[in-house]
Amino acid sequence: MAEVRVSFLGTGAGNCIHRAHTAIVLDCPDGTRLLLDAGSGNSALRHGALLGMHAEDFEHVLISHRHGDHMGGLPHIQGRRTQVAPTASPLVVHSLEESLAGLQNLFRAVSITHQVDQDSVTTTDGNRVVAWDPVEVGQWITLGEDTRASCFLVNHIGGAVGWRVETGGISVVFSGDTRYSESLVEASQGADLLIHEALSTDDDREGAASRGHCTAAEAARAAALAGAGRLVITHIDTPFHHNTQPLAEEARAHYGGPVSVADDLHITTVSSP
Ligand SMILES: [Zn+2]
Ligand SMILES: [Zn+2]
Repeated sequence: MAEVRVSFLGTGAGNCIHRAHTAIVLDCPDGTRLLLDAGSGNSALRHGALLGMHAEDFEHVLISHRHGDHMGGLPHIQGRRTQVAPTASPLVVHSLEESLAGLQNLFRAVSITHQVDQDSVTTTDGNRVVAWDPVEVGQWITLGEDTRASCFLVNHIGGAVGWRVETGGISVVFSGDTRYSESLVEASQGADLLIHEALSTDDDREGAASRGHCTAAEAARAAALAGAGRLVITHIDTPFHHNTQPLAEEARAHYGGPVSVADDLHITTVSSP
């Protein structure tokens, strides 16, 4: 039976003091490995190494948006990858043009020797170490023999998207960061797994919305309306780190399928229906 393995390298909100920032690995049935967001600093590298996944093992990165907790780790992933495998094929980074422009500025700011342009990042030795792949909303990109992905706009900051990945008859949707989003509900129809952010419970709904985020109830409503097979909540803020039960309980009141809350280094699998 086809199976996608989902490894959570980081599950913390931007200001969370306990968890690494957002980075999720999908290992697809056709052998394709996808990194959804890149965490910040060296968190994805550290947690990836603990799970036996190293920078040189990543080829495709799908970026949700240009906030530091989602893309800040990319220069370090590239740096380590180039150190270990200097002539490897470039790391291919997929996102909307607007987010890639932010990433290019980040690489220009932190890189001492690399040449950064609109197409790629190149070392002084002439090796292309990053290739930028600007995508359009709704465009399907082929990432493996039987793996494709498409992004959809969400309600967070300019250029913020979520991603739908289809592989081996299995569909996985990742919300990125978002307030409650109709476009996410539409793009998530029939997904086997919905990985959705939630910053708080409904008693701080306005606070979550003002920061561009969802509550657990809103994530669950999206899962219910999408008919998703399963919901995993992530992007956990400091007050919920030690006890994620309130998030899970609130979600279960709005969605009848299985609900769990991700933790750093948590691995789960999704099988074909
Ligand atoms: Zn975030
Ligand atoms: Zn964000």
